[in-house]
Parts: sequence; C-alpha cells; structure tokens
Amino acid sequence: MESPPSTNDRLSRPTTSNVLETQEQHFLGASLILTNEEKIVNSHIMKLKRFELEEGFKNDFDLIPARHFFEKLEQLNSSKLFQLIRRIPKGAVLHIHDSSMGSTDLLINATYRPYLWQNGRFEQNTPPTFLFSKTNPTGMGWELVSDIRNEMKADIYDEKLRDLFEIYTKDPINTYRSTNVVFEKFRQIFYTLAPIINYKPVWRQYYYDSLKVYYDDQINYLELRGVLPDVYDLTGKIYTPEEIVQIYLNETERLMKNYPSFLGAKFVYTPARFGGDDVFRGVINTFKSLHEKFPNFVAGFDLVGQEDKRILLLNFVPDLLKLPESIQFFFHAGETNWFGMESDSNMIDAILLGTKRIGHGFALIKHPLLLEEIKQKQICIEINPTSNQMFKLMEDHRNHPAAFLFADDYPVVVSSDDRCFWRAALLSHDFYMAFVGIASAQHDLRLLKQLAINSIRFSAMDKIDQNKALRKWEGMWNSTMSTLASDILSGKLA
Ligand SMILES: [Zn+2]
Repeated sequence: MESPPSTNDRLSRPTTSNVLETQEQHFLGASLILTNEEKIVNSHIMKLKRFELEEGFKNDFDLIPARHFFEKLEQLNSSKLFQLIRRIPKGAVLHIHDSSMGSTDLLINATYRPYLWQNGRFEQNTPPTFLFSKTNPTGMGWELVSDIRNEMKADIYDEKLRDLFEIYTKDPINTYRSTNVVFEKFRQIFYTLAPIINYKPVWRQYYYDSLKVYYDDQINYLELRGVLPDVYDLTGKIYTPEEIVQIYLNETERLMKNYPSFLGAKFVYTPARFGGDDVFRGVINTFKSLHEKFPNFVAGFDLVGQEDKRILLLNFVPDLLKLPESIQFFFHAGETNWFGMESDSNMIDAILLGTKRIGHGFALIKHPLLLEEIKQKQICIEINPTSNQMFKLMEDHRNHPAAFLFADDYPVVVSSDDRCFWRAALLSHDFYMAFVGIASAQHDLRLLKQLAINSIRFSAMDKIDQNKALRKWEGMWNSTMSTLASDILSGKLA
C-alpha cells in the first residue's frame, strides 16, 4: 500500500483552476489569437451566451438547446445571440443534400409552374402524387394543381403543401415517438417531392436559387451530396447522370459569373445504399464516368440511407476497393445509437476505406481506437446537431457527443444536413446549437472561427483553392468583426 502523501505533496498538487486552464488549452480553436476587434465582439458574445446559460441553469426547461428544436424555434429566432451568430461569416457548408438545400418556399413556388398535375387530395395516410405533363397523365384521379389551388384558395393549399414537404410539427414529442417514425416521414417527403423537383426546369431553378440563398448568407463555397435521380421534361426525355451534372455545373458557373466572390461548389455522388450487387455495380460505373468527365466538380463518393436498416458499408467494400486512388470518399457513418450492433461498424469500414470525412460520426466516442485514428489521420467529422436531434439520436444538445470532440480539438465541422425539411436556417441554427448546447460554457468566439476555418481546410478543394477561399473568408470575417465591434462600442448592439 502507498503511504499517504505528506502535507507538502498536497500543497504542490495542481489546483482546480490549473486543471481547467490546461483543459481549455486543448479546446477546439484554443490556439487562435484574437485581434482587438475580435476581443470586443468576443466579450459581447460571451455576455449573451452567459445570460442564456444562466437563465437555463435556473430553469432548464427553458434552455433552447435542451428542448426539441420545433418547440423552441420562435424563441431561438428571437435570441440576440442567434441573431449575432447569423451575421458571422461561417465559411463553407460541407454536409448538405441537394433536394433539401433550398427552402420550402422555393418548392412551393415550383408548384405554380404550368402543367403540374396532382393525384389525390391531402388525406392523412396517403399523400397525393404529382407529375408535370403536357396532357392528363394516364390513370384515374389526376387534376391540375392550378384547379385544386383555385378551389381550395391558394393560402390554404400552400399550407397543405408545406405540411407535406416538412417534418415540422407543433407537437414533435408525440408525433415522432421513434427514429423509425421520423425516417418514415422523411422517405415520404422525398417520394412526394421527387416528381416536382426532378422536373428539369425546376431542378435547374431550385439549385441556382439555393446557391444564391447560401451566397446571400455569406457562404461562398459548398459541397452537396445527391443521388442523381431521373430528371425529366415535358417531351418525356429522361436526362442521363452526365447531363444532370452538367446542369449543376452550368448553374454553379452562372452564379460564379454573376457574383464573382462566389467560389463555387462541388458534388459528392451519394446513391442510396439499397439495391443488389448489379444495381451497385451500375452505380459505380456511373460514378467512374462522371469522375472522368468532371474531375474537378464531382469530388467524391458516399452512400445514403438509414444505417440501422442493416445494409452495411461492408457489403460494398469489394467494389469500392476497385475505384481509382484519385477518388475521395465522404461516407455517412455512425449515425446510430446502436453500440455494438452491425450499423455501428460502418465507421470502421469508412476509415479502413480511407474516407476523407465522416458524415455524422455520432457513435464515434464509443470507439477509442477510431478516435485515435481520426485524430492522427485528421479525418474530419461533419457534425449536424439539429439533424441528430430530429432523428432522435439525442434529445438535449448538452448530451451531444461532439462535446468531447470540441473539448479535445478534433478535426470537425458543423453543417446542416437536410435543413429545409425542419425549417432551419442555412447554418446559423446549427452553429447556435454547437456553441450554446454542445460546447463548454467557456468556449468562445475562437470556436466559431475555428469551425469556419475547418470548413475550408477539410473541403475537397485543392490547396491552392483552399488558400484562395481562406483569404476570401478572412476578408469577410475581418470586415464583419470591424462592423460588429463598432456597433457594440456605439451601443447599437445592446
Ligand atoms: Zn446527410
């Protein structure tokens, strides 16, 4: 047995504040040194953060990140801290999906186009189906959307559409009792939406308008994932994957031309993880030819679909290993609470396959060996806080495992996944949840700054383009800090 320490040993032990200080030196963003203007903004932002945390500490039922996003959306939108986070340039967006990157309003606007038909009204269990067609589609029950809208009155009709296209509800706790129920609604949205968004004129417009919305929000680069569905037009033509990617490329270049400080976008081909071997081989061949034809735009490969449905990344490994080394992977993995079940192993396969980033990685902290690996290899984790709550991986953001990743400077970015389905802002709601709900009370402006830097550093851009993007972002950041600091000093920002 060890002898008890002498009094002198006790006195020489580190104090609580020594330990806290050492811990904080490991925080994400801790190595950044703030300028004088940033210090002014930081002390204001920390005052607002402290106020919200203190109020929540007194009554945790009122703390925004502790409750469901839908229950607190109104309060969140009027939070002074949230409004300030909105103004901060957040860098790039690296984890979004093409069909949900815009807003519900853009989708509703698309239904005002001529030749849109609807089959079925808005019954509870059988949502209507839609189709753009010059003539009445074959089959019973098709009506023109314009006629139904006139009959029901436009505002009532549009509200029905909104319910159809969103997960949003005033009573999320009782509506969504399990992850499977949310995924079911999610699949239904995609199914209903597909014939509207896959109509070529809508496809093109929705993408361009979405890019513009990001650009207006001071985000000048993004990477989007997509399944490349059957895009069609009124002549009955079905567009090939090459033609669809060409539309994306043309629209991206159009925005870059119209707004020179927009630095562009890249596409990650993300087919569903369903279908047999033959389907998957077809998908791989499609991807190879896309990669050859658009080496700069088609940046990599991923697979999408509920991981807990037992269709594992492991099934696809033999075919994935045959892909050329130049192809980068950005796998969704670890979006699960099932520690030790099959879906939990997807992260292992993603890392063994050499993934550059991991989408979600929610289950990562249960795997110490993988944690070592991602830190050593600097594999970036794309954290999507609101999405994780939406799919019931956790209820309270204070329990999000990324707290550990923030506390020990892991390579992470924050993104917004399928934000338009749950009425979230482009990135600001997720940044808010990360900053107030997940991070330590001591984490300050440096965390937000580091997240923005990471979003460029871990992007699929080459080093030259990354440096260009960093310089552009830095200019935006410095000018925002300067404006905010002067607003704070003049009392404009109370
Ligand atoms: Zn995703």
